[in-house]
Amino acid sequence: MTAAGNPLMKLYGRLALALTLLAFTFSPTPASAEALTVEHGLCHAASGLDTSDAALAARRFSCGGLPTGYHRASLWLQTDPARIHLARSDLALMVHQSRFDRLAVAFTYADGVTRWQRVRQGDYGSHWRAGGQILFEAPERGVPLASVTMRFDRLASAGLIRARLLPKADAVVQSTGMAVAIGAALTLLLVSGIYSLSLAFAVRRQYLAWQAGWSATMLLWGFIWSQAHLGIVPGLAGTVSAQIATFLACLAVAIATFSAVLAVDRGAVSARLRGTALALGTIVGVVGVPLALIRSGSLTQWADLLGLVIVADLLAVAAYLGWAWRRGSVEARDFLAAWCLPMAVLAFIHIVDVDDRVWGGGSQLLVLAAATWQALWLSASATRRLARLRIERDSARASEALAQQLARRDPLTGLPNRRGFVDSVTPLLERARADDLPAALLLVDIDRFKSINDVHGHDAGDAVLCEVARRIARWEGPMCTVARLGGEEFGLLTVGMDGIVLSRFAESVRLGIAACDHRAAIGARTVTASVGVAEVRPASDFQQLYRLADEALYDAKRGGRDRVVVQRRSDGAGPSDDRSSREAMLSR
Ligand code: GH3
Ligand code: MG
Ligand code: MG
Repeated sequence: MTAAGNPLMKLYGRLALALTLLAFTFSPTPASAEALTVEHGLCHAASGLDTSDAALAARRFSCGGLPTGYHRASLWLQTDPARIHLARSDLALMVHQSRFDRLAVAFTYADGVTRWQRVRQGDYGSHWRAGGQILFEAPERGVPLASVTMRFDRLASAGLIRARLLPKADAVVQSTGMAVAIGAALTLLLVSGIYSLSLAFAVRRQYLAWQAGWSATMLLWGFIWSQAHLGIVPGLAGTVSAQIATFLACLAVAIATFSAVLAVDRGAVSARLRGTALALGTIVGVVGVPLALIRSGSLTQWADLLGLVIVADLLAVAAYLGWAWRRGSVEARDFLAAWCLPMAVLAFIHIVDVDDRVWGGGSQLLVLAAATWQALWLSASATRRLARLRIERDSARASEALAQQLARRDPLTGLPNRRGFVDSVTPLLERARADDLPAALLLVDIDRFKSINDVHGHDAGDAVLCEVARRIARWEGPMCTVARLGGEEFGLLTVGMDGIVLSRFAESVRLGIAACDHRAAIGARTVTASVGVAEVRPASDFQQLYRLADEALYDAKRGGRDRVVVQRRSDGAGPSDDRSSREAMLSR
């Protein structure tokens, strides 16, 4: 049993993956890093957009309640590193990208000096890092930091801000770790997307194309969410990217729903459940458009609402697949196995706040990891399924070939039957005609065979037929093809024999059959046969040969049986033509 086929190995594989993910998720945020939110560690103030950054010193910050009135203005957020137990100067501020026009960060030192660093929509300069973060490092001055202030202009929602203050060395390690994890996930998504697409073309399955579309959407989402695209198009920094990422996330859920629903046979599940899953998937996809465009404070409420619809969609798809699985759908089983991790992750991130964990990549990195696992799982299961289909197809082809072969054989004697005979002699006759070679058909009919059946029984008749067939089979060779044409009639087609050689051969056939030993079946009784021979030069088609040979056989029977009669024809004339010669050779 292979590792892939062993259910125990599969279980171990899934357990190992789940444990890795759990360890990854709950890996503690470094003790020295501090997550900042408006509820924790940040004091806030608001001002008009035209207020100068230099007015920082005059700002009055409020350290309680939630900030208001900043959507079309500036929101100032300030923290004192000493208050959050980070009284040192080598600090860095990591801000997870959000929707704003401009972000200015001020590092104010104990000696009253303030140093500013600024990014704005469309220009993050050298501050962006893979993982969707913007990094601000406090300039080294040998003086402790007194405060760190962020000023956001036209921020969409203070609730979306994820900022962390941490030692510079930790920031470097974390952003490198994020870049590696995201690079690996995106590469795997790319590979599985290309693979699904080539499979979709190769086997013409619609759901594989949806699967490839889903991988591509997740790849694009991961690329844009993680800001990796800023390495190519730095001008997309900020709100536009966040809006595209929101839209793609919704589109990916819609495509994943369609891919799962369409992979399962329509008849396997109730039409209502199918309709519900597709409708929820469509809603998520459509709602992505306005949600991407919103730039006001209601964004978080809309996002929460959409989260609920996504969970409902996932549950509907899970119920749909579970139902189909119970009805025996292999596709549903594979999809369910692939969906369970992304579902668990989505449910998990709705219940547990992991946004500041996993190197600050938070829930998105978990979703990306789960999506990668899902894409790889689906690719692997599609491969397994197609391999199985290929094995089934190969064995069906082999059975068909066997059936065709059997249809050309006579089951009693094992000789080719009339159909098999015609199939194999037609090309021989064509070749003989092209090479101007003579062809002849010998029709052999056992004399008074009916009386053998009548006197000794049908089984004895069968045994006689088999004995005669065995004798006839010995004449099979490069120049002679043999068959049982029906009842007690056999055929031998020869190419290249004519005149006296052919007559002698026909005579040896008659004598050979007469010499067969049938004592076991019918005692000492001799079984003879009459042979009608059609000799044509150049070779004609089988029907013509058969008509001529049948006439000769009729003559042989009428002439007293146990003899050979040859009908000769040496050009395109029919059997009744004057030039056809008739030769009877009697030998008793
Ligand atoms: P003739 O010399 O004129 O050929 O006489 P005949 O009795 O051989 O010819 P007829 O066509 O009257 O009878 C052929 C018989 O062959 C009739 C049929 O029952 C028998 N027969 C045909 N196929 C089989 C078979 O597979 N097994 C057996 N045992 N008998 C068969
Ligand atoms: Mg007959
Ligand atoms: Mg007969």
